Amino acid sequence: MKYSQFNSILPLEDKFVLYNTFSNHAIVLDPLLKDLLNAAKIEGIDNLEDVHPTFFSALKHKEFLLEDSVDEVQKVMDLRNAVDYAEDAYHLTINPTMNCNFKCWYCYETHIKASRMNEEIIERVNKFLSYQLEKNEKLQHFTLSWFGGEPLLYYYDIVLPIINHFNKVAQNRSISTFVNFTSNGFLVSEKMLESFKETGVRSLQITLDGYGADHDKVRYVTETRGSYEKIISNVVMMIKQQVFIRLRINYTTENLKNVHRIVYDLLDLTEADKEFIMVDFHRVWQDDVLDDSDIVQLQIDEFKKYGFAVSSNHSMDNVRNSCYADKKNSAVINYNGDVFKCTARDFTTFKRDGYIDEQGEIIWENGRHEKRMDSKFKNKPCLSCRLLPVCNGGCSQHAVENVEIQGEYCVFNHDENRKSEIVMEKVRELLDLA
Ligand code: SF4
Ligand code: SF4
Repeated sequence: MKYSQFNSILPLEDKFVLYNTFSNHAIVLDPLLKDLLNAAKIEGIDNLEDVHPTFFSALKHKEFLLEDSVDEVQKVMDLRNAVDYAEDAYHLTINPTMNCNFKCWYCYETHIKASRMNEEIIERVNKFLSYQLEKNEKLQHFTLSWFGGEPLLYYYDIVLPIINHFNKVAQNRSISTFVNFTSNGFLVSEKMLESFKETGVRSLQITLDGYGADHDKVRYVTETRGSYEKIISNVVMMIKQQVFIRLRINYTTENLKNVHRIVYDLLDLTEADKEFIMVDFHRVWQDDVLDDSDIVQLQIDEFKKYGFAVSSNHSMDNVRNSCYADKKNSAVINYNGDVFKCTARDFTTFKRDGYIDEQGEIIWENGRHEKRMDSKFKNKPCLSCRLLPVCNGGCSQHAVENVEIQGEYCVFNHDENRKSEIVMEKVRELLDLA
């Protein structure tokens, strides 16, 4: 037998925890058992069977010990292939415009005022949807996501005609469809909400940049007119009509201490309404990272106190839950017909991965799609790393950029303490210690 490459042993209060990143199993060990296991790692793991047969068999059963013949990296590759090359699902994201009604200081996109998808590109997108939904026999699930820019800016002119076409071509197939938006939520009206319900739009992700005035400092209509109150009232209106809202709260060191006050503006929601909201805490990535996890927890606790579901668990899971951009069947179509994989970089034409042609076919250019799909398992340090099943060198964007620039890399700069922190996040989630 051999000791799995994906095991870690870490202190947990007065004991230790043994965790495996592939099996996602954890067991708590008394110090004596930890010493026994560490000794066996040096002296030969098979000896443990004689010394402590029940412990040995438990470790085997939970896949902390494996047959010598098992190729652990290959198991991760097989899992990744099953997830990222799955043919039964497609995720299409559309940016109908790069324009936005706000201008947030941290927004990474360039707002292009005159940008909007024209009739010709709408036609190409519709052809693409017709092909996928009518001819792609392997397809079982189709997710249509709207991004931008602010996708609701041209809801009636661009978005609705495409959704109507999507619904029309999907209705003849027994296929599960899902339509969602990433929006700032300001432009939602009663009329638009009616249209969401008619066309099956079931979910929006809406961002707040803190509570009240903090949010208004970042997202405003004019210097004297903020947007917080309008967005909150739209959020409540949509939830009451059973449209699911992922309320993303972007926090910074500056706005953090007040974000719990958002919950007091949501108290009109009944217990049944709360099934339609998930609160999601995110640190703004340009903000300096201070260790303020206790303050974050206090804010989260206030939401939980009033019965709101909070998703703050973002422990790494880059293989089983890889990003849509890592998947073969995913594309982002920009308003001008350029095609990308990742939504977290700018959408300038010279960085595009391809385009959609007159027939509605996505043409990937310069081997960029293949290169991205092929970017995993190329970084040598990852192949012997205990985090491979959850990290896998980061997302494909990370892998592509790092391999191009540096050759070998590690998203944690090879810092074993940082890797142990990731393991502890997984352990806390698993043992529900968060
Ligand atoms: S940066 Fe990475 S995780 Fe984010 S959208 Fe792009 S590929 Fe996905
Ligand atoms: S990037 Fe670093 S932590 Fe992640 S799998 Fe590779 S070596 Fe491990």
